[in-house]
Amino acid sequence: MPHRESPSPYATETHLIHGEFHSTSWDYTDHIVPPIGASSAYRLRSADRGAEGFGAFANPEFNRRQQAPIYIYDRLDEPTRGMLEQALARAEGAETAIAFSTGMAAISAALGVLVKNGDRIVAHRTIYGCTWSLLSNWMPRFGVETSFVDLVDTSALDAQLADPRVMVVIFETPTNPTLELIDIARVRAAVDRANEKRTKGRRIFIVVDNTFATPWSQRPLALGADVVCHSLTKNIGGFGTDMGGVVCGPRLLEQDLLLYRKDFGAPLAPRSAWPTLVYGLPTLAVRSRQQIASAMVVAQFLEQHPLVERVYYPGLESHPQHALAKQQMRDPHGDFSPGILLYFIVKGSDAEAKERGRLIMNHLASHALAVTLAVSLGQVRTLVEHPASMTHAVVPAEAQRKAGIEPGGIRLSMGVEATADIVRDLESALATVMA
Ligand SMILES: *Cc1c(COP(=O)(O)O)cnc(C)c1O
Repeated sequence: MPHRESPSPYATETHLIHGEFHSTSWDYTDHIVPPIGASSAYRLRSADRGAEGFGAFANPEFNRRQQAPIYIYDRLDEPTRGMLEQALARAEGAETAIAFSTGMAAISAALGVLVKNGDRIVAHRTIYGCTWSLLSNWMPRFGVETSFVDLVDTSALDAQLADPRVMVVIFETPTNPTLELIDIARVRAAVDRANEKRTKGRRIFIVVDNTFATPWSQRPLALGADVVCHSLTKNIGGFGTDMGGVVCGPRLLEQDLLLYRKDFGAPLAPRSAWPTLVYGLPTLAVRSRQQIASAMVVAQFLEQHPLVERVYYPGLESHPQHALAKQQMRDPHGDFSPGILLYFIVKGSDAEAKERGRLIMNHLASHALAVTLAVSLGQVRTLVEHPASMTHAVVPAEAQRKAGIEPGGIRLSMGVEATADIVRDLESALATVMA
């Protein structure tokens, strides 16, 4: 649901560069590049002005997008971060965006404002490793339990949501690392059915972690989500220099998110907001187009490779949910935009496939220029990792299997190198394992 007061005649990529042009966060009429805020506290012109500032902070009557905030202390609000928040809200079509120091801080805050002791969360069974750990290891300490369910098939969701304790449905689409898709509109329909039987204060929220797709490839709010979280560390930041996170959602959550961030801490540092605002967002469109074009070529190369059991890329017709991908993953112009990540499974028995995965990683680590062995994703560099032995190593083997993480699964995050170089590096790594 677009929340723009008046639709802009300019394209999204132009706004990603220029933002709103006018910002209430800072009068930078004379700057082209916005300044980096570097002041932990702010001068108050009078005691009354201080009182006014505290009164306006996290006040639902105060519209941060229309009125200039009175800055007091960085942890409350800060101009560079404020400008980034405006740009991110626009990119996701959200009423508000609140930025945090990391993606995990953003996800914890989104859940923190939506649940309390005794509530339950429904999460897709395949989810980012640290989100899984947050839900499994920490939330139960606060009396919040999570059911991990299969949301690819939403048929069991009505029964789950009939439990009056459920307050949140959270998932990623595409999922990490298996690139399954979840039909946001279908989850919306199930949540709407459940909400009909609930009071306003007990309505269920849909939280989507949109890190993999970025707002360039998918805008979950328009598809029916209530809240979108991102790790800005990934393709929105884009260059791998800074960590960050954001929660985008309705104005009605803005106050709680600001207060939560004030008290639990972890606001995005202005020095990290700045590169995301100045380098990350302005290049998101051009980077994504190149990365997606490469992903398609690499996916096709891998699909015909004799050592590869299967390739999961939403852009391939062989993807089990290709039709849903075409519906859900669209760039702001409406063109199919299947994302920058792909996942492939190496052939062999469990032990064999895991060992092959390890050997491919080692070969790439010591021989490849265009492909870098590293966790994380969404950088100008192509990154490769082996979830079973790396990012998801904390998830017990049994839970890995349940989450669909195969021993021979390899995840690739496309960079902007020459496509042929990425293919060549992969080809030679696969060749050594076959020899
Ligand atoms: C990286 C990532 C996170 C966590 O973000 P950080 O910035 O590392 O805290 C959450 N979800 C997904 C899908 C991610 O890829």
